[in-house]
Amino acid sequence: MNRRTFLQNSSSLALGAALLASPAAPAAFAATAPSPRRQRVLRAAHLTDIHVMPQMDGFQNPPEGMTSALRHAQTQIDKPELLLFGGDLIMDSLKTEKAKSIAQWDLWSKIFSAEVKTPYKLALGNHDVFGWALRDQPELAADPHFGKGLALERLGMKDRYYSFDQAGWHFVVLDSMMIDYANKHGYTARLDDAQFAWLARDLAAVAASTHICILSHIPLLSVCVFFDDDLESSGSWVVPGAWTHIDARRIKNLFHKHPNVKVCLSGHVHLADDVTYLGVRYLCNGAVSGGWWKGDYQEFPPAYALVDFYDDGTVDNQLVAYRKV
Ligand SMILES: [Zn+2]
Repeated sequence: MNRRTFLQNSSSLALGAALLASPAAPAAFAATAPSPRRQRVLRAAHLTDIHVMPQMDGFQNPPEGMTSALRHAQTQIDKPELLLFGGDLIMDSLKTEKAKSIAQWDLWSKIFSAEVKTPYKLALGNHDVFGWALRDQPELAADPHFGKGLALERLGMKDRYYSFDQAGWHFVVLDSMMIDYANKHGYTARLDDAQFAWLARDLAAVAASTHICILSHIPLLSVCVFFDDDLESSGSWVVPGAWTHIDARRIKNLFHKHPNVKVCLSGHVHLADDVTYLGVRYLCNGAVSGGWWKGDYQEFPPAYALVDFYDDGTVDNQLVAYRKV
């Protein structure tokens, strides 16, 4: 036995001993296991990436699709008590002229006010931001609606990020987008420093016994982003910072100080995943618009998610394909 194989053998012995001594992974690495006595405290529907716009040739009727999803979710026999709208509410205003952006918000408001009969919360998505990708119109920067102003006004939102308490859980809604002209999309997915500092204070103020759910448009951590587009063709996995939070490391470090952060909900990718990392469950929940109202996106049909929250800090998450296309 040479020195190298001895070291390998002794380290595997040590590992084996450690596994025998503690058969379960340390709690901080695993998702919270459901308690057999857990009680459901809240059922929510998470509707992300609705991307509503007027019907045009080649699209599968976005206004009817948004209406169908809202009716489907709210007529479940076991009804959700909260609707979480995860951003990308309209098809696009990042690179769309103002009049056409406003026409999309008008359509959003019309369907929303007619159909939504359940308490709701809203998050902003990148496509809800006005003008950041219209680089040939620098005068837009002087428009008070430039950036997030138009969406906040149309949605009646006071703040682009905020938190609230419901059913014994603390919910945090984040704003994922920072302007970035160097990026062809006009934004990068990250929390500005003021928002990050606010998040740190907000989490610190929550009682250790209260479970926390984070809602963001862009995933804080995601696996499905690897399959969005042909990322591996260069021979390296290079995931754009517009697809998943580029500041994931400092967010992960912050969450690790707060074991009551249990679940993070997101959209943006139009694919779905369920990733547990350091005890936090990250759920990317597809898209109501599927493939931007042109059918499925890869394996994923147009869908919303039903998310059941329990008193032990666990959630059950179920994607619901509400429409046959
Ligand atoms: Zn998006």
